[in-house]
Amino acid sequence: MLVKDWIKQAIKPEENEKYLQNGNDFINDDELQSALEKNVSASKEEIRAIIAKSKSIQALSIDETAKLLHVKDPELWNEINTAALEIKKKVYDNRIVFFAPMYCSNLCVNNCSYCGFRSENKNEVRRVLTQSEVVKETESVLDNGHKRMIMVYGEHPKSNIDYMVETIKSVYSVERKAPVSGRVTSIRRVNINAAPMIVVDLKKLKETGIGTYQVFQETYHKKTYAQVHPPKTLKGNYQWRLYALHRAQEAGIDDVAIGALFGLYDWRFEVLGLVAHAAELEEKFGVGPHTVSVPRLTPASGSLLSTKSKYLVNDDDFKKLVAVLRLALPYPGLIITAREQPEIKKEIIQLGCTQTDASTKIGIGAYQECKAEEELNSEQFTIGDPRSLDSIVREMAEMGLISSFCTAGYRCGRTGDTIMGMLKHCVEGKFCKLNAVLTFREYLNDYASPETKALGEKLIENEIGQIRNEKFFMKNNGKLFNEFMTNYEKIKKGKRDIYI
Ligand code: SAM
Ligand code: SF4
Repeated sequence: MLVKDWIKQAIKPEENEKYLQNGNDFINDDELQSALEKNVSASKEEIRAIIAKSKSIQALSIDETAKLLHVKDPELWNEINTAALEIKKKVYDNRIVFFAPMYCSNLCVNNCSYCGFRSENKNEVRRVLTQSEVVKETESVLDNGHKRMIMVYGEHPKSNIDYMVETIKSVYSVERKAPVSGRVTSIRRVNINAAPMIVVDLKKLKETGIGTYQVFQETYHKKTYAQVHPPKTLKGNYQWRLYALHRAQEAGIDDVAIGALFGLYDWRFEVLGLVAHAAELEEKFGVGPHTVSVPRLTPASGSLLSTKSKYLVNDDDFKKLVAVLRLALPYPGLIITAREQPEIKKEIIQLGCTQTDASTKIGIGAYQECKAEEELNSEQFTIGDPRSLDSIVREMAEMGLISSFCTAGYRCGRTGDTIMGMLKHCVEGKFCKLNAVLTFREYLNDYASPETKALGEKLIENEIGQIRNEKFFMKNNGKLFNEFMTNYEKIKKGKRDIYI
């Protein structure tokens, strides 16, 4: 099919119309702007009441979030930051989930002014991975120790739905022996970051057994959206993108993920946009986003905007927006990526992030090719943290955090509103703690360097002590604890992929 014919059939406006109210979508720029303007000077008491609400694991309203965004008092910021970590611990415990991205294609019909893949960037060497290359990339990702992958695609007929389905099947088909123990391992959860799709295509994605479907709105501010996404491109259609995850829910994909690209417009406005998006999903489908991502604009080849945008977010504001998001949306996962430098990433993780990537390569075929770091600069954007998974796992262990490779929730049917309900009641975090320890045990035996293993062993010992002391695990004569310990011992002896 010709590219222009493919473009013509990519959007079906009627699939969006039913969600609009009198032609309007759920983002009202004026309302969000006025929420920012009228909530500039909340009293200390009001802010403390909002923090307390959030600590009881309730989502905040737009006005409450706007009040937090305007806090100036450093003492109150300390309280917000402390609450952010407390909330994370309550809902998700002291663990951090790891994943690796795989960039499958950089052909793109769009022309987003911040992205190295945009069609007018003539410096970009275009490439689509073949299925055998996908297999090789997967082998490299597995050799690093990962169990979760997020696959990323440009929007183009050469990386259409059929291509995506084939690549996902290819990833799931790979089995690989772990370098230290020789145990056979595979990718257990494939997530997707791809353009908005029509419902029939989303159903095909669902059938392949994907985990989460992720679409970032980039900016919720309509005027800015139109400036950075040329109107005649597919991505120029703001509402088609805004309802991408509604259509995904309709297609049966109940783990959906939102995000904003911070640096295109006022960061405070984008936070309110994310909060409004989460509330809309919750209202329409009874389940909010599975995760929220906070990518920050980083330099991209040939993109002036990526380095010169007047809205680039500095580190202090970045920390503030993450902490406020943690408070405003206490139960979705919060993702910080390798776009960030190690130092800031470490600080951000302490503000309640639940997931991150490691040993990341964003070039097409880059895991296999082991490209030099400077070459990465000519790719979609620049990464700030190229460290290996092992070194980041070690850093996390030094911070007292368990590295989790758990994919149990989704494979036991704990998805969508089931998992969100459990997160809201702080129950899922308990299962996660057990499964995090089990998968961490696997990682230490299969991949860890001796230094990481030594640190990890101490952490696990400590965790098992905590689990033993917690009532929740010891109910019914310690049934759950005993099941956990049985699995733990089996893993130590070489059994793999067992969970609770
Ligand atoms: N093409 C699909 C789309 O646009 O949704 C999916 C892939 S796109 C490669 C994934 C994400 O990368 C985008 O949603 C955007 O937020 C992010 N991105 C693009 N350019 C970036 C830059 N210069 N810095 C940081 N992130 C960027
Ligand atoms: Fe294409 Fe996505 Fe990059 Fe836009 S952000 S140019 S749609 S790959």
